[in-house]
Amino acid sequence: MNVAFKQPVHSTPTLDSIAEALLLPSGIDGVYARTAAFEQIVGGLTDLISEYRGPATEVLRFPPVMSRRQVEKSGYLKSFPHFLGCVSCLSGEEVEIRAAVDRHEAGEDWTPALAPADLVLSPAACYPVYPLAASRGQIPAGGLVFDVACDCFRREPSKMLDRLQSFRMREYVCIGTPAEVDVFRRRWMKTAEDFAGRLGLSWHIDYASDPFFGRGGKLMAVSQIEQALKFELLIPVHSADKPTACMSFNCHRDHFGTTWNIRTSDGEVAHTGCVAFGIDRLALALFATHGLELSRWPAAVRKSLAL
Ligand code: AMP
Ligand code: ZN
Repeated sequence: MNVAFKQPVHSTPTLDSIAEALLLPSGIDGVYARTAAFEQIVGGLTDLISEYRGPATEVLRFPPVMSRRQVEKSGYLKSFPHFLGCVSCLSGEEVEIRAAVDRHEAGEDWTPALAPADLVLSPAACYPVYPLAASRGQIPAGGLVFDVACDCFRREPSKMLDRLQSFRMREYVCIGTPAEVDVFRRRWMKTAEDFAGRLGLSWHIDYASDPFFGRGGKLMAVSQIEQALKFELLIPVHSADKPTACMSFNCHRDHFGTTWNIRTSDGEVAHTGCVAFGIDRLALALFATHGLELSRWPAAVRKSLAL
């Protein structure tokens, strides 16, 4: 679907002025301290997204780290090795740890003493939910829907405020038959129009692909578009020419079902799909659209966000 933008872009504040008022530098590109005003909008968005939660949806909030083994098994290293951040720690006897610290004190490099832990920084909010669902046995008839969220990390440093290394993701995840996942995704693509409208945002939904690694990745991206496995809700944050993906609607087919041996009630391999909200990008899009002064935002938008 390629829908024209519904509204003109208000380029009220520059992204530089947004940075000064909302996202304070940490010394590392793509990692910011968020101000109270920014967090107020994040809170409003969080509650608004919850309003769309169906009654039988299970809520889970994941920490920003997850099992390295689970990420490896999910195939993340094949598709996105360039994004992954692994936790590494000093370990061993006190004398070994002390030696590493002493090297640092002496102005030397202490990091060779680090060893990889069994943890990675979560690259997306939905990865931990599939092994968890699999551990409970067959998916009941009608499928399951989860509401998940976590702080995510992707190693894509950038000076652009909409491309962060550390950002927050909220997702609704469906596990069930191919038809159930298809209905879930279609319904969400329609609902997202209402969601973006209530926020007074210009939007556009289009086919999309993931930034798969390497030369082989280009083919995977083409195939993903051909099979319509990913759509994105795009909002003009910098410009209408290069809009920013603020939500994605993903069909994984049987990838996670096969990986984790998740079965539906009729014994078939389950399909999965997710709709992801880029919380920081949505908040940024709101400020870029409506300006820095919350009191001047349109009344309907203020109401949607309970401002
Ligand atoms: P994806 O799993 O790539 O579809 O990501 C889901 C959503 O997370 C995207 O639609 C974005 O809104 C958000 N997102 C992804 N990468 C970043 C990033 N580097 N910085 C900020 N938000 C991001
Ligand atoms: Zn997901």
